[in-house]
Parts: sequence; C-alpha cells; structure tokens
Amino acid sequence: MKLIAVSKKQPVDKIRTAIAAGQRAFGENYAQEALDKIAALKDEDVEWHFIGPIQSNKTRLLAAHFAWVHSVCRLDIAQRLNDQRPSSLAPLNICLQINTSGEASKSGVSVDEAHDLAHAIVSLPHLKLRGLMTIPAPCDDFDEQRRPYHQLQDLFLSLHQQGILIDTLSMGMTNDFEAAIAEGATMIRVGTAVFGERE
Ligand SMILES: *Cc1c(COP(=O)(O)O)cnc(C)c1O
Repeated sequence: MKLIAVSKKQPVDKIRTAIAAGQRAFGENYAQEALDKIAALKDEDVEWHFIGPIQSNKTRLLAAHFAWVHSVCRLDIAQRLNDQRPSSLAPLNICLQINTSGEASKSGVSVDEAHDLAHAIVSLPHLKLRGLMTIPAPCDDFDEQRRPYHQLQDLFLSLHQQGILIDTLSMGMTNDFEAAIAEGATMIRVGTAVFGERE
C-alpha cells in the first residue's frame, strides 16, 4: 500500500521535510500551485500525482509534469492528456474518478458508465489505465465509510472480468483511510494527517 502525501495548500518547506523523511509520492489539486512546487523541487526524486478537478485548458500542463492523474472522468479529457503527453515520457498513469455517492453534484463518472470509459481509455497509447479513485461524502461511521470503497472494489473486479487488468484502488483520506484499507486500497491520499491543517 502506497501513501500519497497530499501537499495542496502546504508550503514547499514542509514537502522538503517529508522528502527528507523518505516520502516520494505527493498529491496536488491545483495545476498552477503544483507547477510552482514542481519547479522548486525539480532536483528531488519526487513522483507527482494530480488528484483535483481537471479543466481542459490545464491538460497540457498535467500531461507534461505529472506521473499520475487520478481524477479522469471524461473521455475528451483523457484524449487531450493522451495527445499532449510528451513522447519522451512514459505513458501517463490514469485512474478513473468514480462517483460512488450517486449525487449528481459530485464529480466522477457513474459506476455504469465507467465500463465504457475504461474500454475507451485502454486504447490510448500515451496513457496507462491503472485503476479507480473515489471521494465519498464525508462521514464518521466506519461501516458507512466502507460502503463506497466496497463499491469501488466491486467495480475493480468487474473490470478484471472484462480483461481490463488494472492494479490500483486510490481511496481513503485522513478521516477514513482505515475503512479504505479494509476494502483493499492500494493507494491512500492523506493530507492533514501528514502535514497538519492546510493554510
Ligand atoms: C485534499 C484531498 C485529499 C486529502 O485530504 P485530507 O483530509 O487532508 O487527508 C485526498 N484526496 C483528494 C482528492 C483531496 O482533494
């Protein structure tokens, strides 16, 4: 299980401290803020993960500077990332963001639509579909916390049955990572519990 230290709204010196302690993977939500940090830390061996909402006019920056994008929920965005990924770099690792709450206001593709999107993305040569991500509505009850993560695990298995051999479940944050781990998380995205409250 891999820890993504979510460094959005955290200063570069805190990221340096985490790097010195052995942390390599960092998560960012805002393209411009992330680029400033990536530039400041370019001499460090860091793996950058984009986990925020994706605007079409930012895909070129994401394709050039990140190793992973966890928040893909539309085919046109995936196509842009594919077309804009520099060919000097390895394929961009992708997770589909799934709306497990069913609320129309929440971002992410529905479980039903995820199959078609996954099949379309596996054919894009400069992307590598790695797995699924979700951000559930916050809640404090452990069993309730497990439910959306169990749904993600079910979808993961159903994609495997269709021959889409993904290996990543990106799920769990400060408030609920234990529930996510209980449901098979392979990556947890933790900010506050690593760095303290955001600025
Ligand atoms: C901010 C954020 C996190 C980390 O949240 P914490 O509660 O601080 O651990 C994880 N994933 C996503 C997508 C986020 O936006």
